[in-house]
Amino acid sequence: MDYNKLAELLFPHIKGTPEQIEERFPKRELPEGAKVTRIAPSPTGFMHFGTLFPARIAERLAHQSGGVFYLRIEDTDSKREVKGAEKDIIETLAYYQIHFDEGALADEKEFGIYGPYRQSQRGEIYQTYAKQLVREGRAYPCFTTEEELEALHATDKKAEIKNRDWHNNPDTEKENIKKLRDITYEEAEEQVKKGNPFVLRILSDGDPEKKTPFTDLIKGKLEVPENDEDFVLLKSDGIPTYHFAHAVDDHLMGTTHVIRGEEWLPSLAKHIQLFRYLNFKLPKYMHIAQLMKMEGNSKKKLSKRDNGAAVSDYRENGYPPVSVNEYVMTLLNSNFEEWRMANPEKPYTEFPFSIKKMSTSGALFDFDKLNDVSKNAISRMTADEVYEGVIEWANEYDKDFAEKLSADEEYAKKILSIGRYGKKPRKDFAVWKDVKPYMSYFYDDIFEREAEIDGRFEKADVKAVFEKFAESYNENDDNNAWFEKIKNISESLGYTSDMKAYKQNPDGFKGNVGDVSGFIRIAITGRVNSPDLHEIMRILGKERVLVRLKNAAEAL
Ligand code: GLU
Repeated sequence: MDYNKLAELLFPHIKGTPEQIEERFPKRELPEGAKVTRIAPSPTGFMHFGTLFPARIAERLAHQSGGVFYLRIEDTDSKREVKGAEKDIIETLAYYQIHFDEGALADEKEFGIYGPYRQSQRGEIYQTYAKQLVREGRAYPCFTTEEELEALHATDKKAEIKNRDWHNNPDTEKENIKKLRDITYEEAEEQVKKGNPFVLRILSDGDPEKKTPFTDLIKGKLEVPENDEDFVLLKSDGIPTYHFAHAVDDHLMGTTHVIRGEEWLPSLAKHIQLFRYLNFKLPKYMHIAQLMKMEGNSKKKLSKRDNGAAVSDYRENGYPPVSVNEYVMTLLNSNFEEWRMANPEKPYTEFPFSIKKMSTSGALFDFDKLNDVSKNAISRMTADEVYEGVIEWANEYDKDFAEKLSADEEYAKKILSIGRYGKKPRKDFAVWKDVKPYMSYFYDDIFEREAEIDGRFEKADVKAVFEKFAESYNENDDNNAWFEKIKNISESLGYTSDMKAYKQNPDGFKGNVGDVSGFIRIAITGRVNSPDLHEIMRILGKERVLVRLKNAAEAL
């Protein structure tokens, strides 16, 4: 068989050679040890929480080593493509500050010299390598005849041509393979003349009895049986399969480390073979286990429909991107939290991420942990940062609240400063959604009394507390002077300020100073618990404090 002739017959429109393509993709000039990584999502759905994992790992490994991280859109399956998915990928990466150095940008644009970064625009490149494989007798066309097409008509033609593989029909498999592999030039020519479509298959030389040793950077040492399947390289429309596009693209784009989901592990044998056929250096691989969740007492894979799976939910619920990023880091490296405690001020990007510290089984997704991490992350922010985060979220999801906040920015920031600085900052918020209920008593129109004063206290006493406190209230009092007044009011009404004495003889008093400040707290904030009451009152201002006391007295 004259393979050159066959190659011309199948790919008459391809004039260039692999050598010419290689020239368009020069070897990257990078420092020793620099890693080139990528994220290569298919725009077939919206970003999944799990996708942040390989993306973050790839980004960290590249940037920690002075290398390059890029985004390639794997849009070879137009049928499964979801409108808006590509935009979502690009926006989500930006939102979570997973910055890439090259790749697809919004509005069909891109950046970098190793493009196109959308596989749908690289048809000629793949076909050039495909033609070369045919020339070398390493790949052959497999035609679908008119009759077969007819038979497939009821179903989905293209999908069937693409998916039909040798294992569909074990009885006739051997015969078929032989017949199809031994296609003659004349047979192929006849089919081409009839206009019958073909897929291009690899002519596999593998023997599954033989095993290739292989080291995955996460899974460790593996033995991969050789591939013996004549898998499809190009579909009938000339578009490559994932396997073929992966080999060609990661070679040309200079990827040193392929970080991808473990669902690709079974395809590894195909990729090893393909890189060998194409004379490409095999990159290093990391196959990441799927995220897990607890269901009762057992671990289950976190599915796309599970709560927490859609990345967009995090934004909607008001998790700041930094919280999600910190949480991803805790899931990726078991020593991140320890590092975080020792380095509370540093950005998480300074953490020395290490492949060795990754768990080989799936990380466990857990909302409680996420909330905890988020509370800590928010507690480390300045009031200005919190304000920016909340207002950005509220502008999108709670317009009324956004208006309230921006009507008096200074006031809002004072509220957000309460208990913020110092050794043990308050941890009131896990999500921006928590801020409104937390702040509500600072705004008269949404203030609601949520707690009532315990009925065991005499109303007259409570009323007297409110009146006396209002009379003596001076907003310039410091914390001590302020509390001194509450103590005095307590004593004057038969409530002790001596906690020790109270404990020894609770029946000897109407109550204690804690009860009295509790009355005031409920009057002012409507709640049993609140941050520092003295500070709250200073922020509210005297006028509001007096009105609240008066209203509370009237409501008794
Ligand atoms: N497009 C593939 C996917 O979305 C990419 C896998 C890879 O990173 O190589 O699963």
